[in-house]
Amino acid sequence: MRTLLSLSLVGLLLSLSSFLPAFRPDDEPLSAPKRPVTQKNSLVNAPKRVVFIAGSCSHGAGQHEHKAGCILLAKRLHESIPSIETEVFTDGWPASPAAFDKADAVVIYGDGGEGHLINQHLKPVDALMKKGVGLVCIHYAVEVPKGPAGNYFLNWLGGYFETFWSVNPVWTAEYKTLPDHAITTGVKPFTINDEWYYHMRFRNHMDGVTPLLTTVPPASTLDRADGPHEGNKDVRAELAAGKPQHTAWCRERADGGRGFGITGGHFHRVWADDNLRKLVLNAIAWVARADIPAGGVPSSTPSKEEMGENQCPH
Ligand SMILES: [Zn+2]
Repeated sequence: MRTLLSLSLVGLLLSLSSFLPAFRPDDEPLSAPKRPVTQKNSLVNAPKRVVFIAGSCSHGAGQHEHKAGCILLAKRLHESIPSIETEVFTDGWPASPAAFDKADAVVIYGDGGEGHLINQHLKPVDALMKKGVGLVCIHYAVEVPKGPAGNYFLNWLGGYFETFWSVNPVWTAEYKTLPDHAITTGVKPFTINDEWYYHMRFRNHMDGVTPLLTTVPPASTLDRADGPHEGNKDVRAELAAGKPQHTAWCRERADGGRGFGITGGHFHRVWADDNLRKLVLNAIAWVARADIPAGGVPSSTPSKEEMGENQCPH
């Protein structure tokens, strides 16, 4: 009888103990043993924070839909990897530097060149990069002025759109093979019509830069007269020689930080492509140093209705 009573007490205590976490104050950090088990040197399931900065409206319907694109990517990323917290800033550069507190990666999808949002914040961003924060730039956000900004991009991202060197035609790119890399996990060869910039300015000897999307553009991509974005003798020589061009790449810096650039993303419709979306979601996760699931970051194909959400007024 006494044994039975003891067992019941033990059982009662055990069942009570399972409720104990419910009494934990919300602001008390979880104790180490209650965190998901991680392997040594692995960041599996470690909490991450990704800050998205969406540029303003600038083009016609369905083009440069920075806000809609950022919201869609942020939503899918958090849905697939809940340990990645995302926040989207849609009203220009975040007013408070606190926006970047605890950031593991910053994603910029907005107009570039002289009007790039980052131009006025190069030094604070460099301080973030030196802390190991990653950077992702999508489409026009890969273009910054040659000089200080371009040099920073060569370090942070590994490459950028340099005027009178790179070009911005609209064409159908066929990515027939993909390199073996965490960012291409689960991505199958794909073909997409977009404004794919190419002949990007990369670091000398591609030092620390890994090309991810590579193809040979058709001759029609240079059928415009030479200009800052249209053509120049260097790109014409490379195209004539059939040299493959890289339209997405990543970089791992000596300080441990990571970068990813992709030149497509002019048309909002491209985010409905399962392979392109997976590649970019994988890239954001990789840049944030999160673990990429086997098969790549899963994400459901957005419906036509969802694709129409959050777009600029036209
Ligand atoms: Zn564009």
